[in-house]
Amino acid sequence: MAQGLSAPHFHSEEEAFAYVEARVWPNGPVCPHCGGVERISKMQGSSTRMGLYKCYQCRKPFTVRMGTIFESSKVRLNIWLQAMYLIAGSKKGISSNQLARTLGLTVKTAWFLSHRIREAMREGGLAPFGQDGGAVEVDETYIGRKKGKPIKGAYHHKMAVLGLVDRNSGRARLFHVEQASGRNIQPIVLENLSREARLMTDESMIYRRIGREFAEHSAVHHYEKEYVRGDVTTNTVEGAFSIFKRGMRGVYQHCAERHLHRYLAEFEFRYSHRHATGCNDEDRAGKMLRGIVGKRLTYQQAGARA
Ligand SMILES: [Zn+2]
Repeated sequence: MAQGLSAPHFHSEEEAFAYVEARVWPNGPVCPHCGGVERISKMQGSSTRMGLYKCYQCRKPFTVRMGTIFESSKVRLNIWLQAMYLIAGSKKGISSNQLARTLGLTVKTAWFLSHRIREAMREGGLAPFGQDGGAVEVDETYIGRKKGKPIKGAYHHKMAVLGLVDRNSGRARLFHVEQASGRNIQPIVLENLSREARLMTDESMIYRRIGREFAEHSAVHHYEKEYVRGDVTTNTVEGAFSIFKRGMRGVYQHCAERHLHRYLAEFEFRYSHRHATGCNDEDRAGKMLRGIVGKRLTYQQAGARA
């Protein structure tokens, strides 16, 4: 049953530890120092730090926060889980200001939490789209403004994003590209699409050459106002772009180019795990938790200046 934010792991730090441990260590605690799984004891006692274990193989202490996005943060674990739930559950995203107000954090801390959480939402190294011989829609779009670039033409001064949607699974992948050119998009398309895929694009020249690599390449002719021909269309990927743009406009007004990939990861995650794909808020938060390991991000890396 969905409990929403009333679930105990959002309110008690002890419950939060139990919740995270069960997901990060499904087969029992693992020492992050030596990788040991045996002779590990939970440290007890009132003066002991919450969730502390000791590994008697390397004799070092550790908690489940080590080696994850939660490492070296003073924010209580149940507050982290609340932040993750809020970010995963809001369709268009949530600003650091809003998050700070809701959770009683400073804006700086809320900003840091959201960037780390976005990092947990980044799903690298997944199977290519279209392995079942299904349709994969690929399209490019332009958003925001590049720093120091004069406004010229329709998108010379904007940041380019390449989008891929696997129509059968309903999943999306979004990539920041320096420029939407054939040369830039080819490696991304080759890496993320199975050769069995039916590639669907518009008539743009940038897809011509790469199209020959796949089982089929069909293009709709947007210049001739053709948007759907049989099952050939790019309407799904364009729909994903429009959700992303609405969010960027409303919530993340001034996105620096160096942070764009994190915002893309956040939207990609939410889109790929939306209700239409059979995912609810709980599932989404659980999936996110599995992405927290090995995604440590220091303040410096997150691009903070203060
Ligand atoms: Zn150890």
